[in-house]
Amino acid sequence: MARSAIQFQKGLSLPEFQRLYGTEEQCEAALEKARWPDGFRCPRCNGHEYGLVYGRLKRYQCRNCSHQATITAGTIMQATKLPLITWFLAFYLIGQAKTGISSLELSRHLGVNYDTAWLLYNKILRAMADREDCRN
Ligand SMILES: [Zn+2]
Repeated sequence: MARSAIQFQKGLSLPEFQRLYGTEEQCEAALEKARWPDGFRCPRCNGHEYGLVYGRLKRYQCRNCSHQATITAGTIMQATKLPLITWFLAFYLIGQAKTGISSLELSRHLGVNYDTAWLLYNKILRAMADREDCRN
């Protein structure tokens, strides 16, 4: 996957989206699968055994070198204070909006303030643009 953003299948309906990504756990699992499709790999030593450290976001601690990795490290969600579900919904809404969506609309849909919505919107658009650049 692009390290920047989660991609959803085209034309995914809102109920379907909610069924697949409606909880924080589902979003976490989706990111984990995208990041480590064949299971955990330590970004430092490439080890694959890990223990979990529970905090606001689950951390994967490598049993070999003790490096701690999160599923959002290196993505635009790195160090975010927002729930993953808010990010996922933002990806979804921006991705599905054929004629574009304003930061104001986004803030209403996500239930976050305008500044947060603006930041999300711009980070996600930049990530999408980067992905287009890679393709060309
Ligand atoms: Zn390691």
